Amino acid sequence: MTLIIYNTLSRKKEEFVPLVPGRVHMYVCGPTVYDHAHLGHAKTYVSFDVIVRYLRYSGYQVRYVQNITDVGHILDTGEDRILKGAARERIEPMEVVERYARSYFEDMAALGALPPDISPRASAHIPEQIEMINVLLAKGHAYEVNGSVYFDVHSYPEYGKLSGRQVEEQAEGARVALAVREEKRSPEDFALWKRAEPEHILRWPSPWGWGYPGWHVECSAMSTKYLGPTFDIHGGGIDNIFPHNECEIAQSEAATGQPYARYWLLGGTLTVDGVKMSKSLGNFTTIKDALKRYKPEALRFFILSGHYRNPIDYSDAALEAASKGWERLAAPALAVRERLRSPSAGADSNSDVANLVTETRRRCLEALDDDFNAPVAIAALFDFSRSVNTLLSAETQPGQAALEAIDGLYREIGGQVLGIVPEQAASGASAEREAGLIRLLIELRAEARQHKDFALADSIRERARKLGVVLEDSKDGTTWKIT
Ligand SMILES: [Zn+2]
Repeated sequence: MTLIIYNTLSRKKEEFVPLVPGRVHMYVCGPTVYDHAHLGHAKTYVSFDVIVRYLRYSGYQVRYVQNITDVGHILDTGEDRILKGAARERIEPMEVVERYARSYFEDMAALGALPPDISPRASAHIPEQIEMINVLLAKGHAYEVNGSVYFDVHSYPEYGKLSGRQVEEQAEGARVALAVREEKRSPEDFALWKRAEPEHILRWPSPWGWGYPGWHVECSAMSTKYLGPTFDIHGGGIDNIFPHNECEIAQSEAATGQPYARYWLLGGTLTVDGVKMSKSLGNFTTIKDALKRYKPEALRFFILSGHYRNPIDYSDAALEAASKGWERLAAPALAVRERLRSPSAGADSNSDVANLVTETRRRCLEALDDDFNAPVAIAALFDFSRSVNTLLSAETQPGQAALEAIDGLYREIGGQVLGIVPEQAASGASAEREAGLIRLLIELRAEARQHKDFALADSIRERARKLGVVLEDSKDGTTWKIT
């Protein structure tokens, strides 16, 4: 079958043909690590996780690079989020970066996102960025003023080809400090290197004095280093299309003289009441908090129930509904595994089951080959689960071979590709029983405290901790997690 991808660069669906047959070089813009990641990050990176998983499932050898932005950047609002985080927590900027890079990797692992093959850090690639800026200066695409270097947007006529914006429009609304505005030849020129102000702790020596690289140049330098000047897929969130991705293209193509990424895949944002979820707006739910209430597979299910290019509106009710939907889809898969542990004699040569499995696989692959259409694949799995329920409640039970074929499809599409059916053979019934027992413990402990028996309450918590169950108190009550 042919994989079709919507390419934002050409604004149409195209057949996917990698540069080197059988191989895919892919880059996705990673997070700036200055606080815990939220569900907006989860949407972007789970979407690309499924894209990578499906490319691998389809037989491609994928090199997946996703950067970590750990160099402070002054935003249009005048703030530098990493320095702000350091001031907030009274720690070193590099401590902020280290703490939240680890937190991000933890969250992604908890969500079942496969780790990128390379997670390059901007701070570890300063020489590569300086080198690219030097090339741009030598080729006349950049100029230096007072220790800062800017890209001359007018030197690159194709600027705007990804976002479709005109240079004149871009200047409007750009809130930049007056000093910077005066430094630049043209208001829409962007910084490749910024002179470090004295309070800027994250700074490096360069041919232009102490400073730090502009945000856009890190992605150009690191993608080129690990994937070559021209590579197959560039991904990220649609909100970074301008100026970030546009600037990446301009710098890279101006520096190398070759086309940059061939297919641009940009994911829709996660919104709350129609507004983008973001740290700065305060309308965010961290991945860690969401995982206290929902299973990782249910969160993935919520994210994948919309096409990756579309926005998803988040609310507690929407996530709750998705979680229930996920249970309906996954319960038959877990029930089948339970039966496989103690198989009974059944109708083994069930050709209906073979047809059902083949037809479901065909529908799923057809959907995923059409621009990674996960929601349509999930709909096929829903139909499959309905049929499996009917089979399991029928008078003549499916035998070992039939159960194995059903389990195989759940593992293949639900597990390996979408990551929404748990890989482990853990039974849903026993997991539920375990959760029930822990809730019972929490209730008994609360009763002990009501009776002012704090010794017993503490003892319950301590003994649970020894069994690997951590009870955490907050003003909203007690939550638990398994360590
Ligand atoms: Zn980037």
